Amino acid sequence: MAIEKEITCIVCPIGCKILVRVVENQFELLGGNKCKSGIDYAKSEALDPRRMLTSSVLVNNGEWPLVSIKSSKPVQKYKIYSVLKEIKKIKVNAPVRSGQIIIKNIAGTKIDILATKSIKK
Ligand code: SF4
Repeated sequence: MAIEKEITCIVCPIGCKILVRVVENQFELLGGNKCKSGIDYAKSEALDPRRMLTSSVLVNNGEWPLVSIKSSKPVQKYKIYSVLKEIKKIKVNAPVRSGQIIIKNIAGTKIDILATKSIKK
C-alpha cells in the first residue's frame, strides 16, 4: 500500500513542505524541497523517524532533587515510550557530573542517557 505524506523540513528556517510517497518501505520523493539536504531529512523522517529525548531523573542526597538528562543520539520514535518508562524508574546518587552516563544502552537502543547538569551532594 502506498502512503503519501507531507513532511516539513526542519533542517533550515525555510521549512519546505516536502511531499513523499512510501511503498513497502521504499521512499519516493514527489517534490517540494528546495535543496538536497531536504531529501535526506524527508527520507529519514518517512522511513525511520527519530527524536532527541530530554527529561529528568530523581537524585538521592543532592543539592537538587532532579537532574536534567538527554539521549546521546536521537531515539527511534517507536522506542520513545519504553525509553521514558525506563527513565522513570531511575534514581541516581549525588554527586552527578554533567555528561555522566546515567543509563547505558537504554531499552536496548544502544543509546545512552546522559546528565546535562552537575548536582553536588
Ligand atoms: S529542503 Fe533545503 S531549503 Fe528547504 S527547509 Fe530543507 S534544508 Fe531548507
